This record gives sequence, C-alpha cells and structure tokens, in this order.
Amino acid sequence: MAKTRRPLTPEEIEGFRREILKKKEELWNEIKKDLIERVGEQYQELIDTVKDEEELAQIDLHEETVLGVLEARKKELEVISQALWRIDHGEYGKCVECGCWICIERLRVRPWAAYCIECKEKLEKIARA
Ligand SMILES: [Zn+2]
Repeated sequence: MAKTRRPLTPEEIEGFRREILKKKEELWNEIKKDLIERVGEQYQELIDTVKDEEELAQIDLHEETVLGVLEARKKELEVISQALWRIDHGEYGKCVECGCWICIERLRVRPWAAYCIECKEKLEKIARA
C-alpha cells in the first residue's frame, strides 16, 4: 500500500469528518436497536430521537440497562468522539503517539484512526506481550 504522508487539505478533512459522522450514526443506530430489544418497543419513539450519550442521559430509562448497552460499544464510541475532537482542534490526521502524519491511504480505510500504522503495530505488540 502506498504511504502518502502530508498535511490534509480542508476539503479532505471535511470528507473524513462526514465519514466519521456516518460511522457515528451507524453506531448509534446499533445502540438504539440494542436498547429497544432490552427495554421493549414501547420506548421506540423515545429512543429514536437520541443522537448521543448526552441525549441518552436525558431520557428516562433504567440506568443499568443503558450502561450495559453503552459498555459494549464504549471503545468504538470513544474512538469516534476522539477523532471528531481532533478535527475540531486542528489535530486531525496526526498520530497521537508520535505526531507524524497518518498516511492518507490508512485514513481512507479508517478515518477515525488515531495512530500511524507503525505506532499501531508497536502498541499491538506491547499489548500482546
Ligand atoms: Zn505514530
């Protein structure tokens, strides 16, 4: 795979942002589906309006049920919100470990990637050891 490392253009960042938001929406649709399965369809309408954790906290559902469903997706939700945070703070596209540019080919596959491939492999090796 080619490795193109360079600062991203605003258009590219915007494109990746849209991809990340799409992923976020998919993730929330799965969360809502899980929730409805657990609490019953009478809550469908209420749950359908939810877009993020803040809104979920507003609605009156059994807290442990909500936490259980969120727990299963916690990692993915974190990765997504951190990527959006980096976009908002002008940090997007840089590896959070070494600070170098994440190659664009990698971002096209995983726009929410936080690490360059070298750092990711290094971290995985450490995690396995
Ligand atoms: Zn790195």
